[in-house]
Amino acid sequence: MADTKIKKRFVAGAKCPKCKAMDSIMLYKLNGVETVECTECDYTEQQADEQVANKATGNVIGVFKP
Ligand SMILES: [Zn+2]
Repeated sequence: MADTKIKKRFVAGAKCPKCKAMDSIMLYKLNGVETVECTECDYTEQQADEQVANKATGNVIGVFKP
């Protein structure tokens, strides 16, 4: 596997909902899916691109209103 090619970035100020560790949450794309991972425990969460896109564009749509 090309693990080194995956760009992982820490989420500043994020708190793990499982082990409560601060600044241990990493965010990266795995097979096109936004994945959240804790470095302190085995907590992971995945969000489909569509869900992320909907959240991301939710506020932007209002800009184009007349
Ligand atoms: Zn954790």
